[in-house]
Amino acid sequence: MNIVLFGPPGAGKGTQAKILTEQRGWPQLSTGDMLRAAVKAGTPLGKQVEAILTKGELVTDAIVVGIIAERIDQADCRDGAVFDGFPRTIAQAEALDGMLAERAKKIDLVLELKVDDQVLIQRADQRVKETVAKGGAPRSDDTPETLKHRLSVYYKNTAPLLHFYGRQGKVVTIDGMAPIEAVTTAIAAAIDAHK
Ligand code: ADP
Repeated sequence: MNIVLFGPPGAGKGTQAKILTEQRGWPQLSTGDMLRAAVKAGTPLGKQVEAILTKGELVTDAIVVGIIAERIDQADCRDGAVFDGFPRTIAQAEALDGMLAERAKKIDLVLELKVDDQVLIQRADQRVKETVAKGGAPRSDDTPETLKHRLSVYYKNTAPLLHFYGRQGKVVTIDGMAPIEAVTTAIAAAIDAHK
């Protein structure tokens, strides 16, 4: 199955995507992780997007669509994938529908993780503190100001996708404020009900 994990920054998409990969074998396709890896490796793409990531803006649709187009042709995506942080705009969602259709595939399910802004802000704060406590460097976009900006980008550009996928009858809303295991259980139930 091809699944989109949908929700604001810090909703728990990455956590649940990793669990889905373990449980079902579908790889996690996180454009955020891929872009950060490019920045870290110092590739031309990484140099192109570094400042945009730090500001919490969106990179261009062409860049992320190109990355995903290459990725979904890899063998591990044969039986499906978990899209995490992609699509983030209507144009990206339309491009994804198109490239899947060309491959006789489709998005089966969009799982919306719903979390209040207040909780997202607390979680981001905690993520920074935990990373620093472990001696690591927090993400360059995990400052309180940038998080607020990422949230506003989410509401402006990404939240409208709920209507796009809603019209396709694909959205299941999950309470993302429940404990991690409860979210995992709710996701498993939505997937099994869909089969
Ligand atoms: P979040 O914690 O907000 O879910 P991600 O790790 O998904 O963050 O993404 C981090 C950053 O990478 C975004 O703020 C944006 O700059 C860039 N990015 C990731 N995915 C996309 C996308 N699909 N379209 C545009 N920009 C993206």
